[in-house]
Amino acid sequence: MAQFRLFPTLALVFSLLLGCTGKSTSKKKPDYALVIHGGAGTILKKNMSEEEEKAYRDALEAALQTGEEVLASGGSSVDAVVAVITLMEDSPLFNAGKGAVFTHEGKNELDASLMNGKDLNVGAIAGVTRIKNPIQLARKVMENSEHVFFARDGAEAFALEQGMELMDPSYFYTDRRWQGLQRALEKEKSQKSATTEPQIPDSKFGTVGCVALDKNGNLAAGTSTGGMTNKRFGRIGDSPIIGAGTYANNNSCAVSATGHGEFFIRNMVAYDIAAMMSYQSMPVAQAAEAAIEKVGKMNATGGVIVLDGNGNIAMPFNTEGMYRGYIIAGEKPVIKIYKE
Ligand code: ASP
Repeated sequence: MAQFRLFPTLALVFSLLLGCTGKSTSKKKPDYALVIHGGAGTILKKNMSEEEEKAYRDALEAALQTGEEVLASGGSSVDAVVAVITLMEDSPLFNAGKGAVFTHEGKNELDASLMNGKDLNVGAIAGVTRIKNPIQLARKVMENSEHVFFARDGAEAFALEQGMELMDPSYFYTDRRWQGLQRALEKEKSQKSATTEPQIPDSKFGTVGCVALDKNGNLAAGTSTGGMTNKRFGRIGDSPIIGAGTYANNNSCAVSATGHGEFFIRNMVAYDIAAMMSYQSMPVAQAAEAAIEKVGKMNATGGVIVLDGNGNIAMPFNTEGMYRGYIIAGEKPVIKIYKE
């Protein structure tokens, strides 16, 4: 009789032990890990030239390498996220920093946010037009102000006070994005439907995001964007909204989103994923899928990158593609663009 009772007792002890160490995965927790995205949208292999694809792969690889250097040398997850997003903002390929999309009035208005999963500190900025690297200003808001969110002229005045350089707005111009605005304006005219809704660009969105886990077990998340082509009336999307486009908490996960921002705000996507993990003990992949499913049920598109404290990663999206990649300490970097 005794041996029949022994098995369930052992199983209970075993699962309690696993519970204490976190997830019941057989994989060893990596020293560090980092995940990036460069936007989700209609990204199809048949529409992409070889050179174009290579340019994106190179940019994603450079971003992963930058993040790995920071984390491998003992840098914090916040350092890694800021370094990676800075690099992606400087690339004209992505809709963040240089290469941002244009507003209805032909301006570039940039949004960014950053969250530290260790202490839940955050910094966010919206609608800035002269900040070369919005993610760096978000970090200054997080670390050097008692507030968490600054917008427009005020955010730029704060940047000046912090010793940051203000750029001429022409720095952000790229012909490709200008043409994108012209197409959106034409389409709007032909549809005669001037609404307050921002126009969804005809192709890729291109927002950038990064989540990281450092050697001390701390998570961080950041997102940076030019928003949506042809946006007007000071429209702000999910990217600078903590809980919608960005979230990090050492107790659950780090998230950065990309997609149709209005729906990511309405669903509080980033926090929703963290909440499902905290309150329902859902694994990363399941929580991330569930959140994207909710967005999809509203006929909205986009994707997320998610990383938990054990180095588990999820990168679901409901579009044709999402520029994305990750590194896990001791493993080869992985880069993906299309559905695979
Ligand atoms: N989520 C961003 C926004 O709505 C756009 C994007 O991710 O492509 O502003």
